[in-house]
Amino acid sequence: CGVFGVFNHPQAADLTYYGLHALQHRGQESAGIVTSTGEKFHHHRGMGLVTQVFTREILDSLTGDMAIGHVRYSTSGESLLQNAQPLVFRYREGNLAIAHNGNLVNAELERKLLHDQGGIFQTTTDTEVIAHLLARSSRERFEDAASEVLTRIQGAFALLIMTEKKLLIALDRHGLRPLTIGKLNDSYVVASETCALAAVDAKVWREVEPGEWLVIDEQGMQTGRFAPRNKLSLCSFEFVYFARPDSVIHGKSVLATRKDLGRNLAKEHAVEADVVIGVPDSSVPAALGYAEESGVPYEMGLVKNSYVGRSFIEPTQDLRELAVRLKLSAVEDVLKGKRVVLVDDSIIRGTTSRRIVKLIRQAGAREVHVRISSPKVRNPCFYGIDMPTKEELFANKWDEEDAMGHAIGADTLAFLSEQGLLDAVGVDLDEIPNRCIACFGGAYPTHTFLT
Ligand code: SF4
Ligand code: MG
Repeated sequence: CGVFGVFNHPQAADLTYYGLHALQHRGQESAGIVTSTGEKFHHHRGMGLVTQVFTREILDSLTGDMAIGHVRYSTSGESLLQNAQPLVFRYREGNLAIAHNGNLVNAELERKLLHDQGGIFQTTTDTEVIAHLLARSSRERFEDAASEVLTRIQGAFALLIMTEKKLLIALDRHGLRPLTIGKLNDSYVVASETCALAAVDAKVWREVEPGEWLVIDEQGMQTGRFAPRNKLSLCSFEFVYFARPDSVIHGKSVLATRKDLGRNLAKEHAVEADVVIGVPDSSVPAALGYAEESGVPYEMGLVKNSYVGRSFIEPTQDLRELAVRLKLSAVEDVLKGKRVVLVDDSIIRGTTSRRIVKLIRQAGAREVHVRISSPKVRNPCFYGIDMPTKEELFANKWDEEDAMGHAIGADTLAFLSEQGLLDAVGVDLDEIPNRCIACFGGAYPTHTFLT
């Protein structure tokens, strides 16, 4: 998912619309904006893309100089309008809106406790638990109630919570998801990725630290911590696939990092070939890096129909299969008679690779060598990236890479090593690794509550 927030701007809803548009790659199932005039809320949510959910008329009705917005792809809770965010609740004398990226790992436990005490839920999302905990806090001040709740929830959360007068920004203690604050003259803007700050011409001010909260209101900004500066564990998949290439996370360009992934892949798994191609759009930077490092030329061997959404984000297997088919076509002129290196960023279920290898062979490729710019995904994610069960993960179905390659119809198949990944996506801190690599076979940074 993607979150976006604005404090103190007369066009708060419009900015949020643009910001969400720039974050569309993070979720395409639903979109929503809540604004505050300082006295009351206005909100609108709907299923579909940002441009489908909002019209000029709707945006004009969203008055106020504060706003939060959300684009969703479901990892916890179904794909339903009632689960679309931001969620809005009655809270004490006013209202409360919540936009959340990430996944809580103790939501089910907390939900059960709340249920047993008579709590009634409107949604099936983990995010609603946060509102219930806030409403039940015995602490008087919003800031105090919030910091109590923030210590209680566990897992991944890049969180925006708005009341009529205050905007709260918080990031889980592991910093699993990115969250950056920008400034636009006298306004504050906050977004999942810097590409959304750039979209509204805001300047990056700083990232939210793991375990930190900030509250902005008319009096100014307060900051505090609900957890000590813990070991940083940003999701490495943000660099591999999820984030937009023009974003910067922890001072690292996503584009440059992706190219490094491709370079490392070429160093580890060279092969004789005539052409390198990438799967658009997410794998193109890695393919370019692979080509640069190997000296094999990069060509545009696959063309994407941009009017089809990200295949993975389609919630059912049937739709995913169909979407892959609609989405890509192979360029015969580039591929015919060639030994092709096909770079993709990841294999999850294996559907995409199998389909694309077939496409490339149909276009006349002589050999197809699949190179994946991330390690084998062997474990599910509990922190907000949609993954199937352990049994459904492609890499868990075969013991040998030869068998895996055969399964997708490739001549050879190779994955980047975990070290190759960390060398590209990590930052130079004492804490090593400072990235979550749990799905690739690393340790989960939090308790998962699912044993
Ligand atoms: Fe990211 Fe994988 Fe960690 Fe999930 S388990 S947060 S996808 S690195
Ligand atoms: Mg892809």
